[in-house]
Amino acid sequence: MKFGIDIGHNCPPDIGATGIKQEDDLTKAVGEIVIQNLQKAGHTVVNCTPSSATDLNDSLSKRANKANREKVDFYVSIHFNKFNGTANGTEVYAISPKASEVADRVLDEIVGLGFRDRGVKSANYFVLKNTDMPAILIECCFCDSPIDMAKYNAQKMADAITKGLIGKSQTTSKPHNLIIKTPTFLKPSTEQVKDLPKESCIEIKPGTYPIVDAHFEEGHYLVEWPDSSKGNRRKHFVFASHSEIK
Ligand SMILES: [Zn+2]
Repeated sequence: MKFGIDIGHNCPPDIGATGIKQEDDLTKAVGEIVIQNLQKAGHTVVNCTPSSATDLNDSLSKRANKANREKVDFYVSIHFNKFNGTANGTEVYAISPKASEVADRVLDEIVGLGFRDRGVKSANYFVLKNTDMPAILIECCFCDSPIDMAKYNAQKMADAITKGLIGKSQTTSKPHNLIIKTPTFLKPSTEQVKDLPKESCIEIKPGTYPIVDAHFEEGHYLVEWPDSSKGNRRKHFVFASHSEIK
């Protein structure tokens, strides 16, 4: 598999949080071991961390652009949280079903090291929204929590992440279905059918259709098909209120 690894921050002026330890140092230590681990296991890794950026937005878009350009199969952004010194534990963010399954496994592995389980969450983070492939953002633990920083070990954290990403449980990945509830259209963008070229929209009847993955985006699901049988496109938008992903 081809992984895109985004070592959070480490690109001034995009610098991470300052807690008991500096987020930049933590993400770099963990990220570099994750990259080595994946390469040792025979996977290809694209380091999506930019070497320079004009501002935070530039830093983030360079990360997503690199992953898209290199067509990685899976994107992993590594971060550490900061709040009020008492919050602690691990949370992993994902916005597609396929990414959520991997997020679950990564979370389980990190929680197995003794960190508090804060769950898999969904948020429209830039790198999750703007990458073309399934993507997760890991908040490994809190850099301002004495509890977390006492437990933290870069090697163990990186090994847990690696195991979650490529561990044996990966084969249990379950299939997804697009359920169409009312007759609707598959569209090349989120624009309304009446504003799109007629030949670019495909009618779809109520029913259950197997899919590879789906993202929620602007009131629609961007659905990825297992083949190009649906009008020679691998991906289509479908109005979310007319459908369901299961
Ligand atoms: Zn961060």
